[in-house]
Amino acid sequence: MQPTHPHLRSVLSVLSAAFVLALSVPSVAQVRTADPEKRGLSRSLFPRTIKITDTVYGYEDFHSAGMTTVSLFVVGNDGVLLADGQGSPAATQKLLDAIAKVTPKPVKWYVGGSDHGVHAAGNAVLPKDITYVVSPFSKQQMKLDAPAMSGDRQIINIGGTEVQVLNLGRAHTGGDLVVYLPKEKILFMSEVYLNRVFPAMRSAYPSEWVAVLNWALQMDVTHYIPGHGFIEEPKTSREELVEYQRAMRAVIAEVTRLHKAGLSADDAIKQANWGPYADWYIAAQQAPIAVRKIYDELEGKLK
Ligand SMILES: [Zn+2]
Repeated sequence: MQPTHPHLRSVLSVLSAAFVLALSVPSVAQVRTADPEKRGLSRSLFPRTIKITDTVYGYEDFHSAGMTTVSLFVVGNDGVLLADGQGSPAATQKLLDAIAKVTPKPVKWYVGGSDHGVHAAGNAVLPKDITYVVSPFSKQQMKLDAPAMSGDRQIINIGGTEVQVLNLGRAHTGGDLVVYLPKEKILFMSEVYLNRVFPAMRSAYPSEWVAVLNWALQMDVTHYIPGHGFIEEPKTSREELVEYQRAMRAVIAEVTRLHKAGLSADDAIKQANWGPYADWYIAAQQAPIAVRKIYDELEGKLK
């Protein structure tokens, strides 16, 4: 994604006026990280819209903690489906403005992949007549006055494009939904996939989350889109999802080892060895939270 050719750069600077980047831009070896600086991305590039196909777009913006939140939108003949918003009304308004630059069609559906604030706290600016698709758990969390999804799968035809909203199990929030585009073989995973971000477990179900990642990896998908971190090229997106699952397993294994050794959670936090994952984004902030959550699960306190 980092063009080195001067002509390409000037073309891109024109394009970036519309904040639309094509994923087909030739890339040199991309540093794999959720840290924009290490990735060589200037903050001034954001928010940005990334064209994935002619009808499917990713959108990355920074939230206050310095990390990207990723939304996805799909343009159908009958309107636009948006999966996840941004962290404030102003940020979500920018997202709606970016959608309006791509299509004049109205945003008619909102899928709540994650009910956490950095994905949903801007929803007040969404069109009043929008149709929400959320899990029963997220409906409660979001205090939403709309029917929740019944069952684990809802198919939405947005006109020419089939969208499947799937509940693959509890993962990061407990109400997690993913968005599957079977024809395009794209899976938007919301916070089930935190690309190169230390596993964030404040409201997670750690071992169930690992199982959800298994389901996702077994699906007929060529392009996995995360809810935080950056959108990757298709091949890299699978490699990174595998790596993310490896990180989840490693964190759970390390905490389990310390628990078995009889350490208190406080001591486990001090002694844990995260290996390569110690360098992942926001590790210092998220590691203590993960330790306590995995202790809860090991001790049967997660219901
Ligand atoms: Zn979250």
